[in-house]
Amino acid sequence: MSDWNLPWTGACLCGQVRVRVTEAPVFASACHCRACQKLTGGAYSLSLMLPASGLEVEGETEIGGLHNPVPEHHFCPSCKTWLFTRGIAGGAFVNLRPSLLEDASWVVPYADTGVADRLPGVQSGARVGYPAFPPVEDYAGLMEGYARDGARPA
Ligand SMILES: [Zn+2]
Ligand SMILES: [Zn+2]
Repeated sequence: MSDWNLPWTGACLCGQVRVRVTEAPVFASACHCRACQKLTGGAYSLSLMLPASGLEVEGETEIGGLHNPVPEHHFCPSCKTWLFTRGIAGGAFVNLRPSLLEDASWVVPYADTGVADRLPGVQSGARVGYPAFPPVEDYAGLMEGYARDGARPA
């Protein structure tokens, strides 16, 4: 198992909200669904799935997106950068947008989700893809594969 070079630090565009990652991610994905296209204003969202205890947040965040209790989309109240999503797997995990990281140069998603809605010409570098979300029974194998082969910081 290779070294993740933790901790990692990151911030929103304006710097008002800072994050610190202290535990290794368990998965990395790119979601091409229509909701993620709209939330990012881009072609897809990137997620690093972290144990909830592995993300420290400094600065107030605000809830955005559809304001549903689950999942809870956190944004910077000033620059409106989409920061992370809480409430994954009953709150055990949080999906961090790795673009916030000071060094995001190593980030490669392991799986594409929402591929049915993928915009033409878009490639994320992921090695597997799902039309919507992976079926529950696939998660253990995906996480094993990610722990073994997932992209690491240089
Ligand atoms: Zn900000
Ligand atoms: Zn999505």
